[in-house]
Amino acid sequence: MKPPAIVILGEASVAVAQQIQSVLPGAKLYGLVGRTQTVEVSYDNFGETVRELYTAGTPIIGVCAAGILIRTLAPLLSDKRAEPPVIAVAENGSAVVPLLGGLTGANELAKTIAHTLNIKPALTATGQLRFNLVLESPPAGYRLSNPEHAKSFTSDLLAGATVRIIGHAPWLSQSNLPVAADSTNVIEITDRPTIGSATHLVYHPVALGSGKLSIIGTGPGAARWMSPEVKAILQTATDFVGYKTYLDLVADFIQGKQRHESDNRVELDRARHALELAAAGRSVVVVSSGDPGIYAMASAVFEVLDREAKPEWQAIDIHVAPGISAMQAAAAAIGAPLGHDFCAISLSDILKPWETIAQRIAAAAQADFVIAFYNPISTQRTWQLTEAQTILLQWRLPETPVVLARNMGRSAEHIEVVSLNQLSQSQADMRTVILIGSSKTRIIQRDNGKVWVYTPRSYV
Ligand code: SAH
Repeated sequence: MKPPAIVILGEASVAVAQQIQSVLPGAKLYGLVGRTQTVEVSYDNFGETVRELYTAGTPIIGVCAAGILIRTLAPLLSDKRAEPPVIAVAENGSAVVPLLGGLTGANELAKTIAHTLNIKPALTATGQLRFNLVLESPPAGYRLSNPEHAKSFTSDLLAGATVRIIGHAPWLSQSNLPVAADSTNVIEITDRPTIGSATHLVYHPVALGSGKLSIIGTGPGAARWMSPEVKAILQTATDFVGYKTYLDLVADFIQGKQRHESDNRVELDRARHALELAAAGRSVVVVSSGDPGIYAMASAVFEVLDREAKPEWQAIDIHVAPGISAMQAAAAAIGAPLGHDFCAISLSDILKPWETIAQRIAAAAQADFVIAFYNPISTQRTWQLTEAQTILLQWRLPETPVVLARNMGRSAEHIEVVSLNQLSQSQADMRTVILIGSSKTRIIQRDNGKVWVYTPRSYV
């Protein structure tokens, strides 16, 4: 768990906050500017500060009313597995309430704080109260292989069912689980691959510090298009792997951490390197622009994982975090050209032969898809776009709208609409995504000069 932030609104809370801080190594005191003096971090906007801490996965101890924390975080609450502990503490130290993060250690943290303040924590999670554990959230050193079954399993136990334990783990023997040797509900601790079920929870011991590999997409460029999940991962990673240009886009997050930059062409080597770092216990983030699963690093990582399947890679916790792809940013900027059926085609013939690309363009044109062209051109590849245009013109009208969107979300952002027969390779570069309209795609010319492009939802 990251060191918590203890957030206070006035100087009257400092004594309680400092008492809590004294038992939580690394915890920092956050205070409202002008209202607090004895703090390490001054903030001027409570809501923004708390939401930023939450998004970054930092445990939050608010010495304030529970309601303030609830209202502040309400817009962000969706994934209970991803949330950090959030705890409300009464200003006079008389109550400690774990509000969120029951699966990420909130109950344990509340117990520690309550112990310091010499009170009982206001624990409300039923499983925790009855059994002294949360089955969904085993302690460090164990991983639940079928978390999807933990909730109903716990409900059954709360409703009176018993459980049989196979294998041994101290946290289970120290619990108050209703153990019965003949029960049909089973909790098993094993290092062998075992398939769990609704009546069979399987925990695997994991080497402590075994690593993590997150493959993330930053969006096309602008920070406002980067998801809160991606920001939180970037904040907690120890090692950053990626093409230099993409690492530069997230340079603020990398300061003081390990940077492993590489050439854009050696994707599989980069993926292997990331897996090796994670297997060595590092928390690795592989950075792609746009979406990591669209012409980017996520496939490269899975390709290496699949082909080389090294045993030491088994325990790596792999996670893909999506991003806004270039075609989505381009479509939004110009209206709704992807509003009906569409496809994406990369014009790069480095990883696939041009014949395949040419066939695919012809098929997509015949099928009347809107087409997003990625990698339209580069310094070495200059003829593919003109060739693609020739193929398209066999199936599409010369006046078909074409959107050229360059450097979306970056300072030199430029977007223009031309007709298919006017398209020329000089209008595109390697930071341009091109959207080719279908036979239904239309242009709206507004009085103020603005042009919108859209593809209608309905064909009637
Ligand atoms: N994973 C990325 C695509 C990487 S392939 C995504 O989902 O967007 C690289 C190609 O993406 C570029 O050649 C260009 O066609 C497109 N691209 C990437 N960033 C872009 C941007 N900011 N503006 C326009 N096109 C972009």
